[in-house]
Amino acid sequence: MASIRLKNITKRWGDFVAVDNQSLDIEDQEFLVLLGPSGCGKTTTMRMIAGLEEPTEGEVWIGDRMVNDELPKDRDVAMVFQNYGLYPHMSVFDNIAYPLKIRKSAPKARIPELVRKAADRVELLQFLERRPRELSGGQRQRVALARAIVREPQAFLMDEPLSNLDAKLRVTMRAELKHLSHELQITTVYVTHDQIEAMTLADRIGVMNDGRIRQLGTPDEIYNDPANIFVADFIGSPSMNLIQGAVDRNCFVTAGGQQLTETPASDLDRAVLGVRAEDIAVVRLGSTDVDARVYAAENTGENVVLTLQLGEQRITCKEDRYLKFSINERIGLRFDSSKTYLFEPDSGARIRQ
Ligand code: ATP
Repeated sequence: MASIRLKNITKRWGDFVAVDNQSLDIEDQEFLVLLGPSGCGKTTTMRMIAGLEEPTEGEVWIGDRMVNDELPKDRDVAMVFQNYGLYPHMSVFDNIAYPLKIRKSAPKARIPELVRKAADRVELLQFLERRPRELSGGQRQRVALARAIVREPQAFLMDEPLSNLDAKLRVTMRAELKHLSHELQITTVYVTHDQIEAMTLADRIGVMNDGRIRQLGTPDEIYNDPANIFVADFIGSPSMNLIQGAVDRNCFVTAGGQQLTETPASDLDRAVLGVRAEDIAVVRLGSTDVDARVYAAENTGENVVLTLQLGEQRITCKEDRYLKFSINERIGLRFDSSKTYLFEPDSGARIRQ
């Protein structure tokens, strides 16, 4: 097991910068998730750690070794891919045993025991004689995991390992991965664009955009204390409401003149107020200064998602599923200043106290 350190890593193809002077310290045994939209540089970052891509600038460290000049096979990291990468003509047993045989990292006589141990961890013992085509998607992904586990590598690098599974299986496999990573305690870098996977699996999340990590923090910090509009908007479903307005004497005022809540800044000509759907309370009309009109009410089973017309802007708000709303109904709204976020409209930076 080992820490992983990126020092000022840049990857360029011609003029195009895929990863832009990024540094990152991943602690020994940490589960770090790189999360971001398609094309933001997550896979490229991971491939540079694995040695499959050479950084244009910067250093990659695994433990106390600077590995820039080491071949992938010498870096002692195990990769798990979205498409499993299994050998179709080999049995599950031989697929799992493959890295041990190739690397000669275990005495031949011990291989069956090690394979069975890894297969047992992912509940595949009864499938050892099957070929990959005789397995379900989830079982194939477990073979890929067992093949990574059997090596006892310094680190796991996982690139969207669940994204080929159907929605239900993904949720089950997510819980299995969570349990497994708790048991194995091996440093893991996990790439995904699925925010729920990131939130549920990570010790820390690095939210990436345009080749840079825009915020690095625990899931709690990323969700509850976003550093900028990009992170605020990317995390959460529905997305955080981003309301345009201004700040007048420590009060956020919408473009239509409604005073929503206290703010940390005193006066700003332009500002953006972020507030999550679940943090807006619907109250009796007239009991606050803020009112809105119901544009749509959608019962998801778990709750009611309201789309509200607030002056010229639309916002969403989640309410108790037992409440009934009708379209065009006027309702009062209450904002809690401790659950709102103020942002600078141009740079997107958070404005704090
Ligand atoms: P996704 O979630 O879609 O896999 P990602 O965040 O993992 O996205 P990367 O695969 O790291 O994104 O790619 C980052 C950018 O670098 C993309 O715009 C991609 O087109 C570009 N890129 C990747 N590999 C190459 C290459 N070999 N040559 C040129 N550009 C590349």
